[in-house]
Parts: sequence; structure tokens; C-alpha cells
Amino acid sequence: MLNVESLDSGVTHLERDPIVIIGAGFGGLAMAKRLIDQGIEDFLVFERADEVGGTWRDNNYPGCACDVASNLYSFSFAKNPDWTRTYGKQKEIFEYLRDVTEKLNLRQKIRFGHELLSARWVEERLAWCIETPVGHFYARALITATGPFGSPVIPVLEGQDLFGGSYFHSFNWDHDYDFSGKRVAVIGTGATAAQIVPELQKNAKKVNVFQRTPTWILPRLDSETSAFKRGIYRRIPVLQKLVRGVWYSAYEGIVGLPQYVHPIFLGGFEALGRWHIRRNIDCYELRSKLTPDFRFNCKRTLLSNAYYSSLNEPNVELITDGVARFYEDCIETNEGDKIDADVVIYATGFEVPNDQFKRIFGCDGKSLSSVFKDDMSGAYLGTSVSRFPNMFTMLGPFSAAGNQSAIYMLESQAEYIAMVMAELDRDEIASIDVKPAAQARFVADVHKKSQRVSWVAGGCKSYYQDQNGQNLGLWPDWSFRYRRALSSFRRQDFNCVYRSNTKVAPTQYTQSSSSVC
Ligand code: NAP
Repeated sequence: MLNVESLDSGVTHLERDPIVIIGAGFGGLAMAKRLIDQGIEDFLVFERADEVGGTWRDNNYPGCACDVASNLYSFSFAKNPDWTRTYGKQKEIFEYLRDVTEKLNLRQKIRFGHELLSARWVEERLAWCIETPVGHFYARALITATGPFGSPVIPVLEGQDLFGGSYFHSFNWDHDYDFSGKRVAVIGTGATAAQIVPELQKNAKKVNVFQRTPTWILPRLDSETSAFKRGIYRRIPVLQKLVRGVWYSAYEGIVGLPQYVHPIFLGGFEALGRWHIRRNIDCYELRSKLTPDFRFNCKRTLLSNAYYSSLNEPNVELITDGVARFYEDCIETNEGDKIDADVVIYATGFEVPNDQFKRIFGCDGKSLSSVFKDDMSGAYLGTSVSRFPNMFTMLGPFSAAGNQSAIYMLESQAEYIAMVMAELDRDEIASIDVKPAAQARFVADVHKKSQRVSWVAGGCKSYYQDQNGQNLGLWPDWSFRYRRALSSFRRQDFNCVYRSNTKVAPTQYTQSSSSVC
């Protein structure tokens, strides 16, 4: 077995190709930790940027914070007694990820500036050939931990190129832009916009919020965590574990009660959402503009105490007539009103599935994204795709969980993938490829279960669905059932190639130069 040092000393002859994880965010770090726990040290993490953190490094717009309480939105193996609030803000979560990287000594395993440009399965070698800006590398397994929100989308709108002011996507925030005294147009009213608008309201002269569809928003039970409480968590870790369990159950309840127990709970949450609007908004007309006409949880439910109240402020206006076109200094609505703007913020979301899937090519030369689009094939257990041997997706199709903590789902996958890799090593298996029938069975079951859930049946359109309104990526059941489904490796669901039947030359892994494949 190779050790960490041998991978770190430039050009190294390996006994075999390493495992490569793409992305050093929550998913990639969890994966690295679980491989080490399994005694697997010959792996590397390829990260496109120059720092860890993923979405919490890249999304740094004002107000950016998590909607899942930090005691739950953190690794089970690195609980942090020092969270300063119920819901972590971007900076604190980013710091946490850097801290975990140092404490677990993972930085030495990460290759920064290694963006995945393409990955192709090489049958003769039973390995992935990965192209990056600094060279090509073989990997015996490829694990994508690139997250669902890495490719921002700016919609194409008429006359956009005529607009003379500034504009940027929330993902590429311009921290040098001074909003004071400016007229701002915010396009979109999803989770991101709901955090940005209250912050902009404090400085800007005018904030016009372009809403296409309102969504359900519930109160956010947020407060500072006292030094006393943090001290208790530090001294009695089991208490923090208990609090984590309570939050887990609460999120499971928000997602599961209305979807998997009885639709009557949908009505309960919708009543809470209406009450939240009434409590914060005085104007009847504004209330009705903000009330969704679809069922709770159909789109992602937001948690905010600040968004509605910011809409009451005199310098904020909600515009629901839709964008017709841009002019040099204004946006015209479908009703013909011209809304002056110095700067446009696109809080218009991301390309789902991730654009990285266009760069991975399986045995048949097809890209992963084309397979997802053409066949609605999805991924077996949300991690494996037929004809993409030794490849695992983290938070790929059918493994995201609406309003449950993404970390819970990622850790479930990391444990499963590490367990599978250890079993392949132990039994001298060179490659596994999920059988089409097993994948089809899993996908059919997911679609059957999805018919009852409100993100398919709730009467809205969202990035949770494909163009036919089918579930595109969410796990339609309790999250603990997902973990249970991943608790064992069902070898009978895979075609396996044993090492004894193959002859593969040892690898020269070149850290600084290219062309090993
Ligand atoms: P999003 O949820 O996809 O919302 C995009 C918004 O842009 C929607 O309101 C959408 O309207 C609107 N939009 C898109 N194209 C438009 C067009 N051509 N004209 C007018 N409006 C348009 O994106 P996001 O808010 O960036 O959030 C993405 C995901 O990131 C979230 O779902 C969440 O999972 C995560 N996130 C989480 C947090 C948190 O934890 N607090 C914060 C931010 C983001 P329609 O609804 O009509 O499509």
C-alpha cells in the first residue's frame, strides 16, 4: 500500500493508479476522510480553485448563510462546539472547512488548480484518464464531488447587451461595487435573493426585486450562541450530539411529514407560511403577490425573517410584471413600466445537473450529462451509472434531499463509496460497472415514489424537475432510508472485472508535468 509521502514527492512510481476525487468542498473532504478511515491512502483530491470550500468559498455575496442549522450542517466526525449562531454564515462555514482540512491533515492530498477538463474511461487500462490544465492523469476510480451549484446561469433577456450599467451573478459577487445611492435591480427571488435583498436595502437608494414566482418562506429560528452554551458543548460533547439529533428530526419532519406521512401536513406548513406573510406584510396586494399558488415544498422552501420585512421598506419594491427587455439605463416590464437601474444582480440560480457532467465520458464515449438527458437514467443509489465503471457521483441524481442537510447525504455516500473501494481492494477487483437492470430498477422505484411528493405533484416548475416534470435529482423518501440503502455493497448488482484476469502496467504519477495518459 502506498503512503501519503510517496504521493507527495513529485514523480512517483505507483503500484497502481490512485483514486481521484474531484472537488474539495464538503463532499470531497468527507470522501477523503472516509477513505483514510478505510485504510486507503492512495488517493488525491483535484480542486479547480486555490482553496478548499466549494460552494462556501465561491458564494460570498452579502447575507450568504446556510438554511440548515450549523449543529447539523457540519461533519459528524468534526462537530464544532464553537459555532457562533444557530445558522452559520458563509465566512464561518468557509473557515470551518479550512479548519477541518488542517486538523485532518488533508491539504497534502489536495492538488489545487487541477480543474477537471475531461475524464475518459480507458478500457485497456481499466482506469480513468483525467485531463486537467496541468496534465493528464490516470485514476483507478473517479469520484465527483463537485456539488450541484457550481455553474451559475444568467438568463438570456432581450436587449441585455444594451444595458450600460454594471451587472453580475450572485455567484461572482463584485465586492468592489459600492451600492450606496445606487438603483439596483435584483432578478430572481430564490434562496439567494432572499438573503441579498435585505442587505442591499440597507445601502442602496432603490432595490427593485423582479419576482417571477413566489415561494414558501417560513420563519428562521436564529440566534447567537452564547459563550456559556459553547462552553457546555465543548465540555459535554454528547449534549451537542443530542441537539444535532433534534435538528435532524426537525428537518426530517419538514420534508417528510407532508410528503411521506400525510398531505394534511402540507396544509399545516402552508398555514404557517401564510401567517408569516400576514405577520410581516401590511399591504394586502403585496401579500397576495407573495403567496405561492402551489403546494408547500414544491420549490425549495426558504427560511427567512428578514426578506419579507425588507419588502416593507420604502426603498424596496417587488415587481411581478416580468422582464420584457433591457435598455441602456432601465428594464422594461411586460406592462410597459420602465424601471431605472444602475446595476443588475442576477440571483437566477445554477445549471442543474452540474456542467461538470458534460466532461465525463464513459465506455460508449457518451458524456454523463447526455446519458442523464437522453435516458432519464439517473444513478443507481444516486452514485453509480451504468457504462461509467469505477465512477461515483456525490449529490448526483436522486441523492439530494430537499430541505434536509446535504452533509448527511454526502456522508452516507462517502461511507458507502469508501466501503466499496475497500472491498474491491480486498477482493482484487479491478473494475465494477452497475448492471443496467439494477439501475433501471432503482430509477423506476425512485420515480414511483416521486409521484406522491410535492416537488413533482405540487403544481410548480423548478430545477428539481426535468423538462417533462419528472424528478430530476431528489431522493423521494426519508433520508435515514437512503443511508440504510447505502449500508451494504450489493455486488450482484454490478459486473465485476477481477485483477487476475487483467494485466495493467504500473503507473508513473507525475505531479508537476503532464502526459501519463
Ligand atoms: P434558484 O433557487 O434556482 O432561484 C432562481 C431564481 O431566479 C428564481 O426565483 C427564478 O424564478 C428566478 N429566475 C430564473 N430565471 C429567470 C428569468 N429568466 N426571469 C426572471 N426570474 C428568473 O437559485 P438560488 O436562489 O441561487 O438558489 C439555488 C440553490 O442554492 C437553492 O435552491 C439552495 O439549495 C441553495 N442555496 C441555499 C441557501 C441557504 O441555505 N440559505 C442560500 C442560497 C442558495 P422561478 O422561481 O420563476 O423559476
